[in-house]
Amino acid sequence: MSVVERQEWDVVVVGAGGAGLRAAIEARERGARTAVICKSLFGKAHTVMAEGGIAAAMGNANERDDWTVHFRDTLRGGKFLNQWRMAELHAKEAPDRVWELETWGALFDRTKDGRISQRNFGGHEYPRLAHVGDRTGLELIRTLQQRIVALQQEDHRRTGAYESRLKVFQECTVTRVLKDGSRVCGVFAYERESGRFFVLEAPAVVIATGGIGKSFKVTSNSWEYTGDGHALALLAGAPLLNMEFVQFHPTGMVWPPSVKGILVTESVRGDGGVLRNSDGERFMFDYVPDVFKEKYAESEAEADRWYDDPDRNRRPPELLPRDEVARAINSEVKAGRGSPHGGVFLDVSTRMPAETVKRRLPSMYHQFKELADVDITAEAMEVGPTCHYVMGGVAVDSDTAAARGVPGLYAAGEVAGGMHGSNRLGGNSLSDLLVFGRRAGWHAAEYALGGERPRVAEEDVGSAAAEALRPFSAEAGAGAGAGAAGAADRAGGPPENPYALHQELQQTMNDLVGIIRREAEMEQALEKLAELRVRARRAGVEGHRQFNPGWHLALDLRNMLLVSECVARAALERTESRGGHTREDHAAMDRRWRNVNLLCRLTDPTDGLAATDPVRGQITLDRETTDPVRPDLLALFEQEELAKYLADEELYR
Ligand code: FAD
Repeated sequence: MSVVERQEWDVVVVGAGGAGLRAAIEARERGARTAVICKSLFGKAHTVMAEGGIAAAMGNANERDDWTVHFRDTLRGGKFLNQWRMAELHAKEAPDRVWELETWGALFDRTKDGRISQRNFGGHEYPRLAHVGDRTGLELIRTLQQRIVALQQEDHRRTGAYESRLKVFQECTVTRVLKDGSRVCGVFAYERESGRFFVLEAPAVVIATGGIGKSFKVTSNSWEYTGDGHALALLAGAPLLNMEFVQFHPTGMVWPPSVKGILVTESVRGDGGVLRNSDGERFMFDYVPDVFKEKYAESEAEADRWYDDPDRNRRPPELLPRDEVARAINSEVKAGRGSPHGGVFLDVSTRMPAETVKRRLPSMYHQFKELADVDITAEAMEVGPTCHYVMGGVAVDSDTAAARGVPGLYAAGEVAGGMHGSNRLGGNSLSDLLVFGRRAGWHAAEYALGGERPRVAEEDVGSAAAEALRPFSAEAGAGAGAGAAGAADRAGGPPENPYALHQELQQTMNDLVGIIRREAEMEQALEKLAELRVRARRAGVEGHRQFNPGWHLALDLRNMLLVSECVARAALERTESRGGHTREDHAAMDRRWRNVNLLCRLTDPTDGLAATDPVRGQITLDRETTDPVRPDLLALFEQEELAKYLADEELYR
């Protein structure tokens, strides 16, 4: 094998979305030479798709808002399974992170008196989302990118080289986090265009790779969301936390089929849009669960008054947390009251003037006009649930974002678990990226600059390269260098097409581990995943390493299969319904599960596609009891409300 190029850095950040860029800025500002590596083009990360806004209790639209209200909303939304210290830091620090963006050049929409405008979103008591129309993610990434360029210009003035202390490797994919003993020592990656392998050596690696939606058939997520960071952490020995919690956003497009799943932002409801069934009923009034009854309007008149007078009226039930709305839509469709294409109706056309729709929701207007030939200023949209976000992720320390059990590994953004509990509130991701991206960069830099540099072993580089080349050595490929493992594979069956395997995986997860889950179906899913894992070892590709999307997908399959098994196994284990995890056979939330985390670990980290026993699979599950919530934080809630969530022993402690 040819020599693999190596470069030395202090901190490597995998991912250039909001979390990755914020981490990189922080690490570089704290003196660490920092490399950012991303699968897509710089500036094209999934974060650019974020529409509605960044949740931060700045109190611009309602001065009663502050971090304690935001904290309470976040815990209610997550059904009290949130890592409470993360939720506390998030609520306290989000306003500073938004203001900081403004000092770096972000142009938010304004209130009449010139402050940053904040809009309503599901589960947030007050208007809280700082936004730029419905293109907030784009502005966030543009601003962070601009900040990176500014830092590079500063470095050029000091060192004569723009990329001496902060460099972006775009269109490069990391396939392994490398270790020296128990410590992280770098990453192994390939350049998508040339297929060239290279190693970035560093004592600290921040994983900021986003989510897992591409394992599901109907999803709002971009092509990058193949769960790479989740799998990289597992393979490096870090556990994943509460992977059963996958958010199905209530409003994705349902028609035409080619765009099924594309998001219809929650701002549509936040700005006054309502949901109706085929009988024309605003059905959400029938779906307000007991835990939320006191906070939501009982009549359409009260709900409509709330938009102008939120202090004396209760919120419309269309603004319940996402899990509630998604389940309600699912029930209406199942009961035969759906729209012609299997969704329900979301209407702004009768709620606000056409010009207001176009001004406040420009992307939605164009999205429906161009993709579905629907004019949303004149007719209702058809919408239904779509896989949107994963609450589960790398188990991290709340303050430092350090991944559990692997010194030098950090995780931030959607790939990290804990912050959102069992269900994320809209807008809380963009603020999460900024708050914990900064913390990850800060602590990764401190760690990297504080100790001895670890060493990357040549044999580990060789193994990572061999693993990456496996798709060329299976039956469909040249067969060269297949070795004993390749021979065993060939004996095991015919070559497999990575695209066909991906489709089968997506169908399996959608049908058997989707929005409503049943024990027998999840068992069936685990059997299917075991079969797919064996077949994925034979996923062969033709051609060479120069821009070869089939090869890229064959490598991504390992990650999607690992992550899917985590989701299915944890979902089978948790015998209750909570947030983004709904069991038909255990339909209620069970207080005994309130303080239980499920941790997934990989049994054989040397081989992500090991042909292990199909019943036991690759993943082992452990239960752990969560830390008790700090008393001063519990005191922010009424005792009566706590009694709905907390186990008896927690309440009386
Ligand atoms: P990303 O922005 O996805 O970045 C991940 C990065 O990792 C990318 O650069 C990718 O190329 C890179 N990467 C992945 N794998 C690898 C690998 N193996 N090697 C190298 N690089 C890799 N949240 C809100 O709070 N408010 C909103 O209004 C909102 N709107 C949304 C609208 C849509 C349509 C969607 C889909 C989501 C929305 N969200 C919103 C959620 C939010 O956008 C995401 O959760 C968030 O952007 C994730 O950011 P991140 O930095 O964690 O990851």
